[in-house]
Parts: sequence; C-alpha cells; structure tokens
Amino acid sequence: MKTLGILGGMSWESTISYYKLLNEGVREKLGGLHSCRMVMHSVDFAPFAEQMGKSDWESVIAGLIKGAKSVEAGGADALIIATNTMHKAAPEVQAVVDIPLLHMADAIAGGAGKVGASKLGLLGTAFTMEQDFLSCPLKEKYGLDVIVPDSGGRSMVHRTIFDELCCGKILDQTREGYVQIIEEMVAHGAEAIVLGCTEIGLLVKPGDVSIPLIDTVEAHVELALDYVLK
Ligand code: GLU
Repeated sequence: MKTLGILGGMSWESTISYYKLLNEGVREKLGGLHSCRMVMHSVDFAPFAEQMGKSDWESVIAGLIKGAKSVEAGGADALIIATNTMHKAAPEVQAVVDIPLLHMADAIAGGAGKVGASKLGLLGTAFTMEQDFLSCPLKEKYGLDVIVPDSGGRSMVHRTIFDELCCGKILDQTREGYVQIIEEMVAHGAEAIVLGCTEIGLLVKPGDVSIPLIDTVEAHVELALDYVLK
C-alpha cells in the first residue's frame, strides 16, 4: 500500500469523512486490521477563510504549498487537497511537489461516468461555482457540461457552507433550500448533482432528491484508494 498525503481541515467537519471513508475502504479491500497509510497536514481554517474573503489568494496558495511540501517530506506518495475550492490552487501546488496531486475534477468525472450523466449541476462555494477551475477540466478533459444555480441560489449555498456546514450546523430548513435549488437545476437539464463542496454531503443525502448525487468526498476517496491500493 502506498501512503496518501492529505491537505485537510478545510473544514475539519469534512476531513473526518475523508479519514473514515479511506480507512473503511482499505479495510474492505484488505480486511482484518488493515487501515489507510496517511500523512495529514490539517490547517487552522479561519485564516484561510479570511484570506479567501479578501481575495488574498497569494496567502492561501502559500499556506497550501507549505502543507503540500510537509506531506511530501513526511513520506506521502500522492497528494489530495480535501476541498473543492482549494483546487483553484491545484496547479501551483502540483508545481512544487514531485508526487502526483489526485485532482477533484478526475474524481467528479469518475462519479459522472458511474451514473451515466453528461450534464452536471454543480453546488459549492461561490469560488467553485463561478470560476472555472473545476468546470474547465470537466469540459476539456471529459466533455462534461456544468450548470450552476442562479445568483440567489449561489449566494445561499455559499453563505450556508461557511456559516453553517463548516461550523457543524446541519439544519432542516437549509436542506429544504438546497433541495429546491437542486430541483431548479434538474428543470434546467442537470442529469446528476455534484456536491462540489466537501461538507454538503453532511446535509443532503441521496434520499432527499430524485436525481443521482456525486458526493465529492466519496468520489475523491475512491480515486485516492485506487491509487494507494494499486
Ligand atoms: N470544503 C469546502 C469545499 O469543498 C469549502 C471550504 C473551502 O473553502 O475550502 O469547497
């Protein structure tokens, strides 16, 4: 088994899900007391969130680079950034390490292939929904189309990610709002919904909607397990 490097803590609410699913996946495959070899760099999320809020991406990237170098020095054979939004910095992070970065877009494409969807509704932070660091590789590498909610929907999802989900608050009223936004994207032709923020899977579950969900934590873990167990 190879060793996986993880940039986590963004937020730790979802890093827990990664940790659990990675270990469960290794146990399922290898049995007994086997568990996933990992080196994790888990950040204090508050300064990162503040820097993003000020569009100070230079500081964000510097923090991620520090983490990536530390997991590589700690013996990781590959790296995952355990958040969608921080994939904005994926090229800069990949450039400073020799180990491969297992990219979220590849994980999402794998999930889309499984459910046979070619037009995806994307939920995530405003950065993820409004910039093209995920939608561009999905289109260019895999031919997948991405649609996003209208501006009211995008601001509701963005606000609740930072004010609720990353703070461990899972509220029924917020789930209802997400379900409505998902239904609107279905009406616009979405064939599957990408939970493109690693905390959304804590709120919205497959039984809440009638359309397939691609949970980016699950999809990313699957990609990482394929690599470390290969
Ligand atoms: N975990 C979230 C994501 O997957 C949001 C937190 C962040 O900005 O990294 O995008």
